[in-house]
Parts: sequence; C-alpha cells; structure tokens
Amino acid sequence: MPPMQIPGFVDPKPVPRKPMPARADGKRALLGLSKSQLREALIEAGIPEKQAKMRGQQVWHWIYHRGATEIDAFANISKDTRALLTQHFVVGRPEVVTAQVSTDGTRKWLLRFDDGEEAECVFIPDAYRGTLCVSSQVGCTLNCRFCFTGTMKLVRNLTPAEIVGQVMLARDALGEWPNASAPVAPRPTVADDDDDFDDDDVAWIPGQNQAGSNYTSDGRMLTNIVMMGMGEPLYNFENVRDALQIVMDGDGLGLSKRRITLSTSGVVPMMARAGTEIGVNLAVSLHAVTKEIRDEIVPINKKYGIEELLEACAAYPGANNARRITFEYVMLKDKNDRDEDAHELVRLIRKYRLPAKVNLIPFNPWPGSIYETSTPERVSRFSDIIFQAGISAPVRRPRGRDIMAACGQLKSSSEKITRAELDRRAAEKEDLWVD
Ligand code: SAH
Ligand code: SF4
Repeated sequence: MPPMQIPGFVDPKPVPRKPMPARADGKRALLGLSKSQLREALIEAGIPEKQAKMRGQQVWHWIYHRGATEIDAFANISKDTRALLTQHFVVGRPEVVTAQVSTDGTRKWLLRFDDGEEAECVFIPDAYRGTLCVSSQVGCTLNCRFCFTGTMKLVRNLTPAEIVGQVMLARDALGEWPNASAPVAPRPTVADDDDDFDDDDVAWIPGQNQAGSNYTSDGRMLTNIVMMGMGEPLYNFENVRDALQIVMDGDGLGLSKRRITLSTSGVVPMMARAGTEIGVNLAVSLHAVTKEIRDEIVPINKKYGIEELLEACAAYPGANNARRITFEYVMLKDKNDRDEDAHELVRLIRKYRLPAKVNLIPFNPWPGSIYETSTPERVSRFSDIIFQAGISAPVRRPRGRDIMAACGQLKSSSEKITRAELDRRAAEKEDLWVD
C-alpha cells in the first residue's frame, strides 16, 4: 500500500531501492561536487581555509576544462598538496564496460558505477551537431508500456557524479579535451553565438593561463545534451539539477542551457522547478491525446492527466516561440496514430497556446514488446496534418539500431520478459509513486 497522503505535501520522489554507493577504498570522487561542496571537501581534507577557494578553482579547471583524470596531472598544484588530495580523493569516471559504434556513427557506452550497477549513454552525431543522450537512473521509476527501460525494476537514482561522468567520458572517448602540450593556436576572432561551448569564459586561474592549449570551441563534436537515456529525470530532480549545473558552468564544460533538453514523461509537480532551477529546454513524452490510451501506454497519466500536464507546460518558465517545448510522440500502430489523434493534438496545443513542436518517433520494437510500429505512410500522414496546422512535426530517424542504441532501447541485457512479469513489475512501481 502507498503511504497515507499528507495534505499539501508533495514529494514525488520514489523511495530509492538502494542507497547511493560509497567507494570501496573510502575515497571521495571530486567529480560531481558543486563549487561550494568542493571547497568544503578540500578544507575537510586539510587544505588551509585561506587557500581553499583558489585550490577549488584550480581543481575545477583541471577536471572540467582540461579533462584531467588523475590528481597527479594537476600540474600547477604542488606535489605535497597533490599527495594530500590523493589520500582523500579520486577524480572519478564511470568504468566503461563496452563501447560500441554503429554503422551510422552512433556510439553507445555501457557504464559500470562503483557499486556495480550499470547504465547506458549514447552519442548521436549528425551534420550540424553531436548529441549525447544521458541517463538519470539505473532502470526507471515509471513503466511506460512501449519502453524497454520501463520493463526494468528500478534499481536506483544516479548521483550527480555519475550523471556528469557520462558527459566526461564521452568527451574522453571523442578526444575533446585540450592538448596541454600542443602549441598555442590563435583565438577565434569572431565571438561565439553563445549557443556553444565558450572557452573565452574560462576564469583566470592563479598560476595557470591558457597558453599551452590549442583548444577552441570550434569543431567540437559534442554540442548538445538530452536527458533522454534511461530513467525519469524529474524523479531524480536534485541530482539531475546539480549535475546539469556543473555541465553548464562557464569555468568548465560550459554547455549553454539552450543546448540541453530535459525529457519528462510528465512528472507535473516538478516541472516548474525544472524551469526555474535548471532552465534547460523541455521535452514532454506525450504519446497520446486521450485519457484511455495515455493511461495505458504512459501509466503516470493516471496520476497526472493530460490537461494538468499541458497546463504545466503552458506555465513552464522560459518557454516561448524561440524556445519551444518539444512533444514527443511515439507512433504505435492502431494505438495512437489515427488522423483524429493528430487533429486532437493540434487542438490541445492551440487550446493551451503552447509554443510547441512535435517529434514523431517511429516505435522501436524490442524483444517481447507488445506494440508495432506505425506504417511509414501513416507516420507521414500524421506529420502532414500537424504541419498543415502550422506546427513543426518532423519524423525522427531511428539511429544506432544495429547496436540497440535507439530511443527506449537502452538496457544492458536483452532478456525476454513474460507479460505476467511485466504486469507484476508495473504494479510494484505504481505502488512506489509516493505523493
Ligand atoms: N523518461 C523520460 C526520458 C527518457 S525516454 C521520458 O519518458 O521522457 C526518452 C524518449 O524515448 C521518450 O520520449 C520515450 O517515450 C521514448 N521511447 C521510449 N521507448 C521507446 C521505443 N521503444 N521506441 C521509440 N521511442 C521510445
Ligand atoms: Fe521511464 Fe521514459 Fe521509459 Fe517511461 S519512456 S519508462 S518514463 S524511461
């Protein structure tokens, strides 16, 4: 039985099945600490308080700007201080269990964290950008019926270190850190459009200038992040927020909030906080326009219905015609793909005056899935109806299918699960949605 509801108290976080991991060697990962947590951790480790701010800046620079993976690489920090740091800390990276590259250039990494749990992360390059699809949980709190991750038992939330760690190791694998031994290259003369990584924003670090780096923001592959891997990011709100704040910090990774998108299946009570405390682009997994169908395929709809969800979208801070909300719509044959559904979608978007675009995702089947993909003719007809109403509705091309990297297929094993087991897991999860 779910616990009794306390009037006025809303806490949509599920009870984590497992506590956050501690490292076996007792050391703490520097990765994932906020600037103030880092300063405090340095003081606790014995760095004099007067030096802590400067040391914190140095460490931040080495980790997030230079991509150093070892404390010994912090070249402008004395040997003795490095030895002190090494006693207490590691930089921290997830372990890569497998790295796969698809014929279309998509890459997928299976990562293992300190407690042995695993999650996946996918890099999708195209002509103009490179998008990293980042996971927020091991498994997922929710149980959408068409989603492979949804069939997993929720194991736990990822920590900020584990979320930022995915970005770090993608940059490691893509070779996108500055090369400290390379000659200095001229700085770009044209200002960045602020939609990109911004190296010019890197703070001056005592004893450390940019000479020695031939690194500019130009030509980097990883340009965008989507929180669309495994898990529901708004059921792991604090950790996702803290991780994205590190990713957006101008002294390090410096990714603009305009290049980050958070996708939610509709955890309504957390949406306003996502807008004000993170401020990234919003994507909403709508997938159906009637209560009956959405209750079936996105069961959180039984808790937060379509109207409530769209009201929360209308109120989302920062959404406007230049920064539209993306509605994701997975195309399921004879389930949600009729002409009437497309017309209803248009009506709803207009009713709530939403600055919206629609992403149509052909369903990616997985072993044991109970739905089929809509025909290409159906998908394009559906898309046309929405386009004719003046709303952009492109069809997303499935990427990385050969390495099981496509939407909703992220899961380390491909065991076939029985229908009865799926139902059991779904019921168990619904009991966890505390509020
Ligand atoms: N939990 C979040 C983000 C992760 S899912 C959410 O649901 O929004 C990212 C996107 O992939 C969602 O739109 C999801 O509905 C979609 N997706 C999941 N399984 C899929 C599948 N088998 N085929 C196509 N899209 C899928
Ligand atoms: Fe979780 Fe998103 Fe999959 Fe639904 S679609 S089960 S919310 S990962």
